Amino acid sequence: CGIIGILGSHEVSPLLVDALKRLEYRGYDSAGVATVDASGRLDRRRAVGKLINLSDRLVHQPLPGQAGIGHTRWATHGAATEVNAHPHQSGRVAIVHNGIIENFRELRARLADLGIQPQSQTDTETVALWTAHHMDQGMGPVEAARATLSQLHGAFALAFLFEGEGDLMIAARRGSPLAIGHGKNEMFLGSDAVALAPFTDRITYLEDGDHAVLTRAGVQVWDAAGQPVDRPVARIDVGA
Ligand code: GLU
Repeated sequence: CGIIGILGSHEVSPLLVDALKRLEYRGYDSAGVATVDASGRLDRRRAVGKLINLSDRLVHQPLPGQAGIGHTRWATHGAATEVNAHPHQSGRVAIVHNGIIENFRELRARLADLGIQPQSQTDTETVALWTAHHMDQGMGPVEAARATLSQLHGAFALAFLFEGEGDLMIAARRGSPLAIGHGKNEMFLGSDAVALAPFTDRITYLEDGDHAVLTRAGVQVWDAAGQPVDRPVARIDVGA
C-alpha cells in the first residue's frame, strides 16, 4: 500500500522504516524492506503487523546496505502472512508493489509451463518471477524490467532493486501514484511526497504509464509509448 526507495549515502534500512511510518496513515497489515549491500548482496526482512515488528526483526537481523526499497502491504491477493509480505524476491531481483496485477493467474500459468513455481499467494510475486526469468534468459536489469512491465495488466506502482546493482532502482507507474525525490548524490522514490519530505523537497511526479531508471546521478523517465521524456522537478513545501 506504501512504497519507498532510497539510493543513499548512509545505511538505508532505518531510513526506509522511518519513511514507511510516514505512509502508515494509508493502513497496512505487514511490511518489509530489501537492500543491496556493499558487496552487491540482495537480501530482505519482512514482518506481519505493525512496523515495530519489522524494526525488531532488523535489530536482531540487521540488513546492511545504502540502497533499498520498502513496503507496507494492504493485502488484496493472499493472506497477511510473512511469505506474502513484500519485497518479493526471485533470483537477482526484489520488488515492491502497490495495486493489483489483474492478469496474474495467466502470468502464473505461463511460469508453471516453464517449471517456475511461486512461493506466495500474491499477484505481486509473478512480477519478480518474470523479471528474474528474463534475466536468466540473458537480459540486463532494465531490459528485463521493461519486458515484464509490457506483460502486466492492471493498476499499480512498482519498484525494482537488483543484486549486484547498488546504484540502480527502477520505478513504474500505471494508475497508482509514484513520486521521485532528487537529493544530492542521492535519489528517492515514494508513494507520495510526504514520505520523501525528510529527504528532499525536489520532487518529480511520474505520469500514468511512465517508468523511470534511477541512479544516484539522476533519473531518466520514459512514457507509456516508450519515448524518453522530461518530467518537471517541482519544489514542494516540506512542512506539508
Ligand atoms: N496486490 C498486492 C498484494 O496483495 C499489493 C497490495 C498493496 O497495494 O499493498 O500483495
